[in-house]
Formats: sequence, structure tokens, C-alpha cells
Amino acid sequence: MSEQTITVTLATEKKAKPDASTLVFGKTFTDHMFMMDYTEGKGWHDAQILPYQPITLDPASVIFHYGQTVFEGMKAYLTKEEKVLLFRPEKNMERLNKSNERLCIPAIDEEFALSALKQLITVDKDWIPTEEGTSLYIRPFIISTQPYLGVAASISYKFMIILSPVGSYYKEGVKPVKIFVENEYVRAVSGGTGSAKTAGNYAASLKAQQIAAEKGYSQVLWLDGVEKKYIEEVGAMNVFFKINGEVVTPVLNGSILEGVTRGSIIELLKHWDIPVTERKITVEEIFEAHKNGELEEAFGTGTAAVISPIGEFFWNEQVIVLNNNETGELAKKLYDTITNIQNGKIEDPFGWTVEV
Ligand SMILES: *Cc1c(COP(=O)(O)O)cnc(C)c1O
Repeated sequence: MSEQTITVTLATEKKAKPDASTLVFGKTFTDHMFMMDYTEGKGWHDAQILPYQPITLDPASVIFHYGQTVFEGMKAYLTKEEKVLLFRPEKNMERLNKSNERLCIPAIDEEFALSALKQLITVDKDWIPTEEGTSLYIRPFIISTQPYLGVAASISYKFMIILSPVGSYYKEGVKPVKIFVENEYVRAVSGGTGSAKTAGNYAASLKAQQIAAEKGYSQVLWLDGVEKKYIEEVGAMNVFFKINGEVVTPVLNGSILEGVTRGSIIELLKHWDIPVTERKITVEEIFEAHKNGELEEAFGTGTAAVISPIGEFFWNEQVIVLNNNETGELAKKLYDTITNIQNGKIEDPFGWTVEV
């Protein structure tokens, strides 16, 4: 790839920055964005940082009809010393290429993408909020742009990165959520695209999410697509349970998205000598463990919330309440440790943070 220069066009007018207390996830965007094109025969080219703006696409573009697209989600944090830190960003670039592979999208140069990201963040550095719990959410994504209605991989693409300042996920402190175990709809199936971060998976999840919300539940617990027996994920997060002193999480099976947060938690638990196992887990086992007084904690994990404790599960007309609907000790310890590493408040023994 010979695209190693980035053309920079700075915005002549800067937008007003929102007050950190009013920030809503994913609704405010910074002054600039990154964009790069792919054309068959030419490869990835024309890397540029330019003012944040709408793009024009042919209505026949493959993305609009067949959803050939991938995305990533990560964050940048401003430390007390005004350093900008990323959390394991190479993992996101690696995963972007894994998603690309599944969606027949040409691979990006991971190192170049990371250096482009760092340059974009530097240009918009004054958009990184400083208040406790805030950060700059980063959304890299690739769309297929060839105007063609045949079902085939596109021969042209755009790789873009946009940035969004986000407030604290937990404005009133970390609070457990209520979860609806979904028996009818599934998010992903074995052999499908569940392990790729691609739009279709999220479109497929909306219906169940909507029904659960109407019933007063904040997220859905997804089961496997064949037997609807084994637990896969919670909402758009990976899921962990603490049963009788042991932490368990569903083993990666091809339909589960491999979270960077998930991997970091497994490493942390091993570092703390807390037993952690990746294996198949049935819903039945979770309800049984609760009945026996052995289900200590459950929580979701992902970049947006980091840790989202679960206070209640609804399944087949049965309700179980965990830990008196309070955040568990382990969830709290994991949340504090990971967010403190991300913010540069404590030493990072794993070398996870990368300075911009
Ligand atoms: C992004 C995502 C996750 C969490 O991944 P992180 O890298 O930890 O943010 C989990 N499940 C799904 C379905 C996701 O899209």
C-alpha cells in the first residue's frame, strides 16, 4: 500500500463544544473526520483529514442495498497530565480486518489506520471532554460504494473515522440493569456474521430490543441460534457470571463478538488469581445456580459502558434478582481498575494504553 501521506484540510469554522453534563452518547461530532478511498486496481488511496461533513453517494451503492459494511468502537481519554490515551487500539484495528475478511472487504493497513486515527485525534484534541467518566468515542467504519444492484462484493469503498465526545455512561453511579432472556429472536447464528462488527447484526437485534424495552427491560440476553439454550451475549455486550467464586463467560463460538473489554477482563482476573473459565453456559444453569444461592454476580462488558452490572433476569415468566439489585463487588473492582488504567490514573501493568 502506497497511501502513506494524509492530506489535511482544517475547518475554517469550529463548532461550539457542548457542555459535558449534557452529552448524549453518539449525537455530537467533532470538527474533523478521516476518509480514505478504495478502488479496485488502485487499492486504498487518497487518505485525508477534512472538516466533518455529509458525504454524497450514488443511490445504487452496495451499502444501501446489501449492507456490506463493518465498524469499530473505541475511546480516547485525556489524563490529568493532558496526555491522550487509547486503550489497546491495535486490537480494534486487528478486529476491523477480521470483520473485513468476513464481509469480503479489502484489508486496511492496520498500522497506517492507527497513525491516521492518532493524527485525527490530535487535530480534534480540544474536543476530548475532561470531566470524570467522559471520553472521546471513536467510530472507524468502512462502507461499500460501488453503484451496482447485483449481489456481489463491491469494487469500491470508503474507510472513515468520526469522533464523538461522550459523557459518563453512569451519571448517577454504576447501576444494575434488568435483562430479558430472548427465546424467540436470535442475534447471530453459527456460520453467520455474529463475530464480525457489521451492520446487519444490529439491524437484526432491534426487534427483540424493542419488545424488551416495552416490557421494561433495558437489554436482551441472546441465546444460541440453534437450540436457544446457550447464552451468547447481552445487548451489544459480552456477558460474565460469577458462580460460587468462579467467573464464567461463554466460549467464543463464531457467533459471539470477541470484545476487547472481554479479553482484558479475562487477563485481569487471571492476574488477580480469580478462577475464570470460557465455556458453554445454559440459561437453565444460571437460574439453577440462583436457586441454589450460588449466582453471585452477572455483568455485561463493552467499550461504551465498560462494565454493566445485571440486577435482574426475566426468562419464561420467571424473574430472578441478583445481589439485591446492587452492583457486585467484582463488577465494581473490574470497573474501577479498567477505567483507572484507561484514564492513566493507575499504573498499567499490561501495557494496554497507547499514548497519542
Ligand atoms: C462491540 C461489541 C462488543 C464489545 O466489544 P468491545 O471491544 O469490548 O467494545 C460485544 N458484543 C457486540 C455484539 C459488540 O458489537
